[in-house]
Amino acid sequence: LACLCLLVPNVAMGQLYKDPRQPVERRVNDLLSRMTLDEKIGQMTQIERGSASAAVIQQYKIGSVLSGGGSEPAFRATPSQWMSMTNNFQWGALKTRLSIPFLYGTDAVHGNNNVYGATIFPHNIGLGCTRDPWLVRRIGSATALEVRATGISYTFAPCLAVCRDPRWGRCYESYSEDPEVVRSMTTIIDGLQGQSPAGWRGPYLQDRRKVLACAKHFVGDGGTFQGKDMGNTVVNYETLVKTHMRAYPTAIAKGVSTIMVSYSSWNNQKMHANKFLLTDVLKGRLGFKGFVISDWDGIERITNPWGANYANSVRLGINAGIDMVMVPKNYVTFIATVKRLVSTGAIPMSRINDAVTRILRVKLQAGLFEYPYADNSLGAYLGTLSHRALAREAVRKSLVLLKNGGGAKKRLLPLNKNARRVLVVGAHANDIGLQCGGWTMSWQGSQGATTKGTTILAGIRQSVSKNTEVVYQYNPPTGYAKGKGFEYAIVVVGEKPYAEIQGDNLNNLNMPSPYPALIKDTCSNIPCVVVMISGRPLVVEPYLGYMNAFVAAWLPGSEGRGVAEVLFGNYEFTGRLSRTWFRNVGQLPMNVGDRYYNPLFPFGFGMKMGIK
Ligand code: BGC
Repeated sequence: LACLCLLVPNVAMGQLYKDPRQPVERRVNDLLSRMTLDEKIGQMTQIERGSASAAVIQQYKIGSVLSGGGSEPAFRATPSQWMSMTNNFQWGALKTRLSIPFLYGTDAVHGNNNVYGATIFPHNIGLGCTRDPWLVRRIGSATALEVRATGISYTFAPCLAVCRDPRWGRCYESYSEDPEVVRSMTTIIDGLQGQSPAGWRGPYLQDRRKVLACAKHFVGDGGTFQGKDMGNTVVNYETLVKTHMRAYPTAIAKGVSTIMVSYSSWNNQKMHANKFLLTDVLKGRLGFKGFVISDWDGIERITNPWGANYANSVRLGINAGIDMVMVPKNYVTFIATVKRLVSTGAIPMSRINDAVTRILRVKLQAGLFEYPYADNSLGAYLGTLSHRALAREAVRKSLVLLKNGGGAKKRLLPLNKNARRVLVVGAHANDIGLQCGGWTMSWQGSQGATTKGTTILAGIRQSVSKNTEVVYQYNPPTGYAKGKGFEYAIVVVGEKPYAEIQGDNLNNLNMPSPYPALIKDTCSNIPCVVVMISGRPLVVEPYLGYMNAFVAAWLPGSEGRGVAEVLFGNYEFTGRLSRTWFRNVGQLPMNVGDRYYNPLFPFGFGMKMGIK
């Protein structure tokens, strides 16, 4: 027996929390009992990458670091450079008195999207159209592996918002307007986290392929008035639970490690200060045992104007039940403020202990104490061929066929691979950045060859016969399609990338120029299919009559070839709308109660080409 103590030296020194054979709750209690207030507050503090260093982490005993949307400019680095960075931070954390490992989090919301060369999957709105929870689970697994390939073990995903109004700039982060579709996609948590061999639900980092997940944003983020980002969701408690909270009990049952608070308000009260929902409902009624994390600067936003009476905001937020605070920059002020509030009794010590217990529980359960460092051999998994094949499958299944012939127009799909000459038009046909949308390489995303992948145009060129001539025109002059012997045109239109507030469009959801004119001009002259790359339905009714076929492709990500594979009939369309398609913005919000009046295309609609 004596040999056991020799084998586990920390146990010999009586540090029970370091003994992986002990039950997690005993380890948590043992560690908590050894911690000073400074060490506890440090665990509750998450800072952004740009403010972090091994020395800062060590000095302030920081519990977590993130690469968020706001951590720009993007960190262009290879997997091994990412790993050196996170390992270096960890080294700082492990040098603290109690050697508590830190946790690195990132917004891997459609693949490991902050990293050049990662596989970028379709945004959630498209995944909702697949109605394929098993596919989404596999995407979770692939994403987890690509996140671990950069030495990171925590992602702020999935977004379980139920977007009720497409004017919201985050609508594409929502799987559906329908709470049951959103709930069905919580399978992504199984893919991201897996299940620990020790019997608790949740990730175990010894399984090098898994990461911690974060269900967000609790709660009502998708229900704000007119779709305003960070706005006010005005519904009664029953509707909040039935609609916006619907997916959370399932996510909790799956062992989701963390839950992020929504910037939005519920009936005029900021969610970040809502003790009833964060503590009584989420931790009490729903039995959530992981940790609750604030959103970026979420605490500052409690008081209006932003940041006014900071101490009061911190008090309200932490007392409401926030366990870890995404500070993310002014950590010195944050730490000092919490300390002062505890010393005056404004934040009870019991609240601090609950927060730290939850954070330590997650870290210990995940095996972070035993496996704190990145594994270099995982770097090879970034952007692998099998992940790209999976992304292509997801693209194919997310496409929704909304028109194929009808009225004066002939059916055009599947496209003829043996056409002599075909025309492809529109900037969106040949641009990885545009087809990925926001949250890709940078917070808002951007146009251009921002990362590796295939464009839709490249996919078209691969799909046609050797003898077919494909002519591409970014923005052809009027009448270009006429008289040049084109058999048909593929017109690829869409929105420019955006994220969060900057994507809000409260007044119109029109197709940007030159697309309306391009559709009219091209489709008046030759048969055409219009493919739309967008984060939400746009106004399309006035142009529909010009088109032979119309396909919603959402924000497909890095594997544009998947679009071409379906247009040319290698695969059938199987996607069904995850959202109701409106006729005009005047109809919004369409969901008065659960009824949708006079939509252009109803929720669940999706046609087939009828290929054999
Ligand atoms: C977003 C979150 C995100 C966080 C970190 C916030 O602005 O609302 O969804 O996880 O930033 O980047």
